[in-house]
Amino acid sequence: MTETEGVIKYRLDHQDQPIDKNISISEINAWRTLLFKLQLIGQIENRYEGYGFGNISQRINRPDSDDTQFIISGTQTGGIESLSRQHYSQVIMANPLKNHIRSIGEMPPSSEALTHASVYQQDKAKQTVIHVHCPEIWNNTQQLSLCFTSADIAYGTPEMAIEVQRLLQTEKLKAKKIFSMLGHKDGIIAFSDNMGKTACNIIKTFKKAVQLEQTALYS
Ligand SMILES: [Zn+2]
Repeated sequence: MTETEGVIKYRLDHQDQPIDKNISISEINAWRTLLFKLQLIGQIENRYEGYGFGNISQRINRPDSDDTQFIISGTQTGGIESLSRQHYSQVIMANPLKNHIRSIGEMPPSSEALTHASVYQQDKAKQTVIHVHCPEIWNNTQQLSLCFTSADIAYGTPEMAIEVQRLLQTEKLKAKKIFSMLGHKDGIIAFSDNMGKTACNIIKTFKKAVQLEQTALYS
């Protein structure tokens, strides 16, 4: 793996100011803390050169609006068990193909915000996106019959945005709502119309991966 975790690769216009006071973070933040406890989001000394990993986002624009606006955990917040409002960033414009994001917040958005944006831009039914790092799921991508982006496409690039948009057209991903990024070590993305459903999909897939590994080990 030659890429460095956590480096922002897109063009970012960021305004340093608090996110909209009407945005509630209680739902997104509770799920994020749970995923932290499962070490699917976190910062662990001997993984990814000690960089934080995993991020979570929620669409915030009104159903009648065509914008892609969402809140997302800030860059390098992986190591913090429980985030507060200052740790979220509000993406107010995203153009994955032009590699460009505009945001406001007391910290810049996650380095993987562009990949979240390409999922949201597919259709309005997608309300939440979660990116975790899970070696068990990632290593069993084939056995779990998961969709995946190719090993030569790195995270946070326009190539990834194009690949994600292609993958999202497939019936398999429409059904599974979770995929591996083989060009991003241990990288998994899940999405759906609901935060709880997205998180539970990851946790259930994690369980299946653990079960596969245990079966291989003990049978
Ligand atoms: Zn990642």
